[in-house]
Amino acid sequence: MSRRALITGITGQDGSYLAEHLLAQGYQVWGLIRGQANPHKMRISQLVSEVNLVNGDLMDQGSLVAAVDLVQPDEVYNLGAISFVPLSWQQAELVSEINGMGTLRMLEAIRMVSGLNGSGTGGGRIRFYQASSSEMFGKVAEAPQRETTAFHPRSPYGVAKAYGHFITRNYRESFGMYGVSGILFNHESPRRGAEFVTRKISLAVARIKLGMQDKLALGNLDAVRDWGFAGDYVRAMHLMLQQDEPDDYVIGTGTMHSVRDAVRIAFESVDLDWQDYVHIDPSLVRPAEVETLCADSSQARAALGWQPTVGFEELMVMMVEADLRSASQQRDYGDLLTTSW
Ligand code: NDP
Ligand code: GDP
Repeated sequence: MSRRALITGITGQDGSYLAEHLLAQGYQVWGLIRGQANPHKMRISQLVSEVNLVNGDLMDQGSLVAAVDLVQPDEVYNLGAISFVPLSWQQAELVSEINGMGTLRMLEAIRMVSGLNGSGTGGGRIRFYQASSSEMFGKVAEAPQRETTAFHPRSPYGVAKAYGHFITRNYRESFGMYGVSGILFNHESPRRGAEFVTRKISLAVARIKLGMQDKLALGNLDAVRDWGFAGDYVRAMHLMLQQDEPDDYVIGTGTMHSVRDAVRIAFESVDLDWQDYVHIDPSLVRPAEVETLCADSSQARAALGWQPTVGFEELMVMMVEADLRSASQQRDYGDLLTTSW
């Protein structure tokens, strides 16, 4: 019988890539979908039609118990979250509830369905993956960052993710549960939300090239990130759940680029000079910034045999090309024929 996976955050960037990856591995894939008429439902159903959907919300304990009980998964991937850092200052309580307490609720659902009572051993059959984040490192204590680097989160998002990280480790230690956290650095793709800086840039470059937009407003151009390709990172999530012993892993490329680099590469790929189009909007600068992130993922490379396949320049060009295709359809035919994610 094929293995079963339950994914929260199925309608998001990573959920879609992970679903494709697991289906290709022969899994039966279930996705948790929230809300009465979720506008993203059609998006995942069209892209990955073999995915089964089950109703539930990380804010609602009972719905998670029911979903785990119905699906009887071998593996649960908790990708559901409010993932955009600036929103976490505006809705700090909601972000803490979904990203932090939501992790606890999913662990509790697994514990209840598995009948675990706290003996510290025999942690049940269901393996659990938690989507931890490099934002937990925040004001970095060492560079590059690895599994042992101290956390100093710089946003309510990072604080909530740190809670999710530690409660996952605690359930591993308290109940013997197979629970792991992937501390993933920024990863992007043509399916990345348009509010994130790489996609904001690739969309703007495509639209400027096609005469549909004049300018691009950005915040801190000096911020540095370790950006990789989402399709590579979901392979790491799956590998983490296939090990004999559960452990947490840092996943990133180990290369650093600034927002300015991203802008330059994207504009150059369509033969434009970024300095003619980009201006700084101070309202886009964050109250507390994570200046620099860079992963040391040597543990994942050694233990999981994982490595990234897409470099930063290739990633930015891939995103611009995808947005050129969808923006030109939008320009020529209107929204109806837009194939954009
Ligand atoms: P997205 O923003 O693309 O997707 C987030 C998903 O979470 C959506 O499917 C959304 O569903 C779902 N969600 C939001 N609120 C709830 C809720 N209350 N209950 C259930 N589901 C909910 O994020 P990504 O795919 O990029 O990221 C996946 C995970 O990895 C997130 O947890 C993110 O924080 C984390 N992460 C991402 C990184 C990155 O660079 N992409 C880096 C490190 C960590 P809906 O359609 O209903 O809104
Ligand atoms: P994050 O690292 O998860 O917060 O991912 P983002 O893509 O949202 O931001 C990456 C970096 O780009 C952060 O340091 C932002 O301050 C910086 N940045 C600069 N201008 C912008 C902008 O207009 N939008 C976003 N989202 N980020 C920007």
